[in-house]
Amino acid sequence: MWALLARRRTLKPNGIQLVRRYRVLSLESSCDDSCVALLDKHLPGKPPRIIDQFKVTLDSAKDGGIIPTSAHEFHQQEFANLVHKFCQKHNLTPESAPDLICCTRGPGMIGSLSAGLQLAKGLSIGWNKPLIGVHHMLGHLLTATLPKSKQPDLLPPKYPFLSLLCSGGHTMLVLLKSLTDHEIIIDTNDLAAGDSLDKCARELGLKGNMLGKELERFVNEIPEDLKSKFSKINTTTRDNEFQFQLKLPLRTPKIGKFPDNVEFSFTPFLSSIKQLRERNHEFSKTTKQFIAYKIQEVMFGHMIDRINIAFKKHGLDTGKYEFADGKFNGVKDFVCSGGVAANSRLREKLFTDLSFETNLLIEKQDMTFHFPDLQLCTDNAIMIGVAGIEILESLKIKSSYKVLPIRKWPINELLEVDGWLKMDDEEFAKILH
Ligand code: ZN
Repeated sequence: MWALLARRRTLKPNGIQLVRRYRVLSLESSCDDSCVALLDKHLPGKPPRIIDQFKVTLDSAKDGGIIPTSAHEFHQQEFANLVHKFCQKHNLTPESAPDLICCTRGPGMIGSLSAGLQLAKGLSIGWNKPLIGVHHMLGHLLTATLPKSKQPDLLPPKYPFLSLLCSGGHTMLVLLKSLTDHEIIIDTNDLAAGDSLDKCARELGLKGNMLGKELERFVNEIPEDLKSKFSKINTTTRDNEFQFQLKLPLRTPKIGKFPDNVEFSFTPFLSSIKQLRERNHEFSKTTKQFIAYKIQEVMFGHMIDRINIAFKKHGLDTGKYEFADGKFNGVKDFVCSGGVAANSRLREKLFTDLSFETNLLIEKQDMTFHFPDLQLCTDNAIMIGVAGIEILESLKIKSSYKVLPIRKWPINELLEVDGWLKMDDEEFAKILH
């Protein structure tokens, strides 16, 4: 691809070579955030530079969760205003318009998505610039290609790589073989991890807009000696001083026997709290601390347990496990993104408890962990711009103005939806001016 771009470099009449450079405006509104961002792509082979992002979030604390109709109304009320202010700040006008408009097309809440998509279509028509309708999850998956402030020397992950995407809307382990070739290795069979954490936090009486984050803070504030005591209490049965039962969901397969689908399950965490509440209406502070601590530990333990099963199933065929199919051969990068990935305890456990050595025969120091920056882990428009740039440069396609938002859009069917249009050379060259 970059060879192609290099060939397309134009020369000014005086012979000075122009550096390919273009700007991208991106919009995201798949759930309860209205976000707009501006990116600058100038060096072939290098990630785009983030110029700025504006974001407003629906306050749904009083509703006890996100109500789709309220989110739709919120985006209709706030998004155009936000984009207007953003355009004023960055002097984005028909005369100095960005070169490409990207917008989340799905998956997500239809009302929320359509508010952003309609706005993006308007900007694209008004400024006469192409539109790309982006898959929200592709955005999350590609955040790992951006520089990370805490891992500044890290190179972007190389295909094939694994990405654990865990947020309020999704929890899955994906194998990325190329930009468009993705395989979901583990998916949740009920709630997403972030949704479950939020609901557990609410059940414990925690308040705030980002309840999962509040739960993490609540656990972090537990004194170390108490945490150490909690860690020794077994909850596989109710036979403990808190009478709280919480065990790893789903059964561990016998050695050599793997389920057809390796899955996550996150409803048992919420059910366990509800069951205790039925027997014991009032929770003391220590009980709340114990439950919160165990919810995090067991939930993250469950995720690691399932990923380790996938490692056995798809790891190298060493003869140890009869059915290891070698699908993960060549994987040397592990990305952890999405809102829950910001949880420091999850990061710590992933690093210590994933069994790379035994199942992938890769020493831990040879496996590179990528933890995208926090602001990129939650829903944002930057990742939509990043994904749009990849789609443009690798596939030379754009979206038609007839595209509709898509509520459910499997990540492995990225190109199998209607509305993709091939860009002609002239239009492509116009963007890369
Ligand atoms: Zn998301």
